[in-house]
Amino acid sequence: MATAQDSYLRLLENPLARDLAGRLGLPRPARLRRYRRGEPLIPGPVLVIGTGGGADTLAAALLAWDLDVRRHPVPGERLGAIVAALDELAAPGDLAGPALAIGASLRELAPGGRVVTVSRPAAGEPAVAASRQAVQGLLRSLARELRGGVTGNGILLGEGVDAGSPGVQAALRFLLSARSAYVDGQFLLVGSGDGTLPEDPDRPLGGKVAAVTGGARGIGAAIAEVLRRDGANVIAIDVPAAGEQLAAVANRIGATALQLDITVPEAGNRILAHAGGRYGRLDIVVHNAGITRDKLLANMDAERWNAVLEVNLAAQLRMNEAFLASDLLGPAPRIVCLASTSGIAGNRGQTNYAASKAGVIGMVQALAPALAGRGGTVNAVAPGFIETDMTARIPAATREVARRLLPSLQQGGQPVDVAEAVAFLAGGAAGINGQTLRVCGQSLVGA
Ligand code: NAD
Repeated sequence: MATAQDSYLRLLENPLARDLAGRLGLPRPARLRRYRRGEPLIPGPVLVIGTGGGADTLAAALLAWDLDVRRHPVPGERLGAIVAALDELAAPGDLAGPALAIGASLRELAPGGRVVTVSRPAAGEPAVAASRQAVQGLLRSLARELRGGVTGNGILLGEGVDAGSPGVQAALRFLLSARSAYVDGQFLLVGSGDGTLPEDPDRPLGGKVAAVTGGARGIGAAIAEVLRRDGANVIAIDVPAAGEQLAAVANRIGATALQLDITVPEAGNRILAHAGGRYGRLDIVVHNAGITRDKLLANMDAERWNAVLEVNLAAQLRMNEAFLASDLLGPAPRIVCLASTSGIAGNRGQTNYAASKAGVIGMVQALAPALAGRGGTVNAVAPGFIETDMTARIPAATREVARRLLPSLQQGGQPVDVAEAVAFLAGGAAGINGQTLRVCGQSLVGA
């Protein structure tokens, strides 16, 4: 799997350098807790805050995962996580108790610990809507105050969804786990109570067939590897020019390789033919292949504009049409598309790229009902600054600023961090549909 290209982070692995950085007042980014099979879900007991039915349901789910659950803090005890049930707020005043209770236990969180809120999207009477929306301000700010690789994220319960729904449990497990190392300050909406949880949480994709475009390197290679680790049969796809790298990835992880430029009109049918021939069906599609051709709009030419829109958006639209028209698509299909934080907030010099990635977010929203109708989902993942060949092309000084300005984690993400989020949306994330999940370490871009 890809290694960090962040030499400052590597330097800080030396205790003397770490100590010196502290004395000079320089950032000391934490080593993030990342998934290893067999390791505990969280690094200590979990404190459940809240007294309503939602809190009881969440505590019962956590107990069923063999975690140590506390309903009240035990003085001096190190915590692995705080889960706050805020699903019954009726007025802004209701937030004070739980907010201050979270605050009182923050210092007890172990490195790599988690804070997860469970609340509802703003709706209803003004006071109810205000108190629900207030949770988002609380969580997003709190996440910026956390240190030591601790992250804070929220789960939003859609209309008619309760805390015991499979999608809520899947989201809770993902956000508590090391799989969500670089997801920080985000909310995941569980829009329906449908779906089931995978039998084996360590192998949630057992027996599924997954196609990953742009699989020869970077994030795509990491996605192929993580989907394979989670049990899927993987088809790694990339342009013929990257054929050697593609074959190396496929051989290393035990995938099949398909050399294909996704912009050719028959791309969708080529993938279906490969999947049908080898495995008899296709369950998961990850649209990861993407390119940048950065220029200020005043200097933009048609070639740069069209190339980016074609690879990043038009090809996905065409392939999805082919997949959805095919009998080879499995009974609960999952599509996951790579967007970008640039597609949310815009980024100087990236009008073409941001247009394509914002387009992906719109496409995912519009496709969601069609996928739901087939028992499936379509979602996007929006990475922030991830250490790959793509970001290695950014000038060194800009790259360094991009890393250290991240308010809590102070480092770029690794391809595996994006891959874990993709695998989550491709597997256990029932009831999460049409959403865009940011994997950005709370990047200020797109805040
Ligand atoms: P990368 O450039 O390292 O890899 C992209 C891969 O896609 C390459 O192997 C390339 O050959 C392949 N590809 C390009 N055009 C193709 C085509 N027409 N047909 C088939 N394959 C093609 O990029 P990455 O950093 O790994 O990014 C992967 C995805 O994540 C992209 O969609 C990118 O926009 C998105 N993303 C990356 C970052 C980041 O920080 N690296 C941030 C936000 C979004």
